[in-house]
Amino acid sequence: MISLIVAYFSWLVLDVNLHAIINMYCNVNLHVMKSGAQTSQSSVSDLLLYFGCPRRVYYTSRGFELLPEMTAARVERMLEKELALTYPELMGGDSLNADSLNSALEAALACAAEDLPLLYPGEFTAVDEALLGEGKALAEARLPEIGANLLQTLEEYGKKNFLAALTPVKSEPFLSSERLNLKGSPSKLVCFEETLLPSVIKTGNCPTSGVWARDRFHVTALVLLLEAERGKAMEDAFVEYAGHGLLRKVRLRAADRREVLKVCRRVEKIKNGFMPEKKEGPLCTHCSFFDQCAQKPSSLLSKLF
Ligand code: SF4
Repeated sequence: MISLIVAYFSWLVLDVNLHAIINMYCNVNLHVMKSGAQTSQSSVSDLLLYFGCPRRVYYTSRGFELLPEMTAARVERMLEKELALTYPELMGGDSLNADSLNSALEAALACAAEDLPLLYPGEFTAVDEALLGEGKALAEARLPEIGANLLQTLEEYGKKNFLAALTPVKSEPFLSSERLNLKGSPSKLVCFEETLLPSVIKTGNCPTSGVWARDRFHVTALVLLLEAERGKAMEDAFVEYAGHGLLRKVRLRAADRREVLKVCRRVEKIKNGFMPEKKEGPLCTHCSFFDQCAQKPSSLLSKLF
């Protein structure tokens, strides 16, 4: 009996130490920045993170930040996003033609390159003039395609509708739903054909037609939030591919909504402590959690004993 009690208390001491050691071990090996307070409400960005790799949600929900590497391509994407904010004004001008639009886009890009370090001072501490110049050159090379596509889309939609689809009624509004336990912000809300719709600005590649699955998922989550706020059903949303000057309207299906609800529940489960499987793939190469993720639980235990 006595030996049983001794064994029990030894295990308690060992267990407490084990947790302390694991905590210390894990924190030392996370080469990432600790962020602020955690929240139990999920955000649309958590869902998007899950879409890329569920395990990233596990790490970020435990207070660690994913720090994307600052490269010329990333600076280019940030510039293109800023540039997209000027499209409503640029496309609203009279006597618009390819030359005048290209000059206006060049001027807007130069302005965005000046403003970017002021808009994102934290991220730009690691960006020198040369990297900013490289990113700007990449964005400049896209301007002719952006200009041509903007003019073509203007023709397809008609000026009134195109401007309605581009012009924000509200920029980055905060949307939240208690029922979904979810919050998020679209890039803007637009009033298209007398209906308020969410629109997201995306950078990077654009599919030949329609939108990427991840972007469909993103706008569906935002539509669900907007519906919850307004108490009104809606079927459409917009995705703007900034680096191509293309605008795509998305008609949502029940399957899209089902997928978002499913991911909401899975994200909640992860936030409550469930460690998901790794989703090894191209994302891992630049993932801030790579080292942490590469460790097998068995190797951790062998280091401890
Ligand atoms: S290293 Fe790969 S599997 Fe691990 S969290 Fe990052 S993306 Fe996911």
